[in-house]
Amino acid sequence: MGECVVVVNQKGGVGKTTTAVNLGAALAEGGCRTLLVDLDPQSNATAALGAGIPEDATLAPRCGVYAALCGDTPIRDQVQPTRWTPLCLLPATVELAGAEVELAADPTRHAVKSCLAPLLDDYDIVLLDTPPSLGVLTVNCLVAADSLLVPVQCEYFALEGLRQLLRTIELVRESLNPELEILGLLRTMHDGRTNLSQQVAAQIEQFFPGRVFSTLIPRNVRLSEAPSFGLPVTCYAPVCAGTAAYRALAKEVAVALRLPYEGTDELGAPVPRKPAEQLPEGPETAPAPPPEPDPSPVLIRTPSLSEAELVALD
Ligand code: ADP
Ligand code: MG
Repeated sequence: MGECVVVVNQKGGVGKTTTAVNLGAALAEGGCRTLLVDLDPQSNATAALGAGIPEDATLAPRCGVYAALCGDTPIRDQVQPTRWTPLCLLPATVELAGAEVELAADPTRHAVKSCLAPLLDDYDIVLLDTPPSLGVLTVNCLVAADSLLVPVQCEYFALEGLRQLLRTIELVRESLNPELEILGLLRTMHDGRTNLSQQVAAQIEQFFPGRVFSTLIPRNVRLSEAPSFGLPVTCYAPVCAGTAAYRALAKEVAVALRLPYEGTDELGAPVPRKPAEQLPEGPETAPAPPPEPDPSPVLIRTPSLSEAELVALD
C-alpha cells in the first residue's frame, strides 16, 4: 500500500511544486512506483511534466483529478503514464478551482482520500502537490495523507505562516486524521554564499530539531528552467546541483518511509542496493547534500508537535 505524502505550505513560491515534481522524478529514477497528484488548480506540476491541458477549460472535456473527484470517471482512467517510468501523473485542470466550493459541503473532508484510495495499491508513494492556501482542497489533502513534507524557503520571513500551518495540522489530527505525521521540513532555495540563507537554514533546524531533512535544496537556475521545457530536472540537467539535491532527498525519503528504492548514480542510472527493509537508519545513510555537507541526522518521524514548538514561532 503506497505511502501518501502531501507537499504543503500555504505560502506560494516556496518550492512545493518544484519539490513534488523533482522528488517524484528522482524516486521513480530509483525504481519507486510514484504517482504525482496535482491538486493545485494552477496546474503547475502538470505543466512541469509537459502534460499541458487545453487553456480553455470550457472546451476541454472534464478530465484529470477534478473529473475523478466529481465521480464522472473512474480515477484509474485519469492517471497518465510519463516518459519517466515508473512515474505517473494525475493531472489538474483549472476546473479544480471549483472543487473548493463543491467540497466545502462535506465536513469530513474525505473526498480526496476516497478518490485516491483505489490507486494506493498500485504505487509505492503518492505525492500530492497542493495550492498555496489552507483552503478546503489543502485540508482534503491533509486528510488523505499519511505524512507531510513542508518546503520552507531559506529567506527572511521563512517561518512566518508556519505557525498557522502547524496549528492547522494539529486541528486536522485532532478531528479528521489522527495518523498524520510530519515527514520533514525541507529547506529550499538555499544560497550558501549568503549569511541570511545560512542563518535561516540553521534557525529552521534549531526550531524543529529532528524534523528537518539533511538535504538542503540549493537555489539553482536549472531547477527554475526545467518546467518551461516540461521536464523534471533529473532529465533536463542530469548533472547539476539541483538534480543532485533532489536525488539526495529521494534517498532520505526512501529511507524514512522504507520504500523499495534502488538508488542511482550521479547520472541517474540505477544502482542496486540492499532491500529497503535492510537499509540502516542513521546519519551514514544521509548523503552529503550539495553545496555543503550537513552533519544532522536523517529525519525522525514524530507523531505530534509540542506546544513549545508552536510557542517558538510566536
Ligand atoms: P510553489 O509551488 O510553492 O508555489 P514553486 O515550486 O512553483 O513554488 O517555485 C516557485 C518559483 O521558484 C518557480 O519559478 C520555480 O521554478 C522557482 N524555484 C523553486 N525552487 C527553486 C530552486 N531551488 N532554485 C531556483 N529556483 C527555484
Ligand atoms: Mg505550486
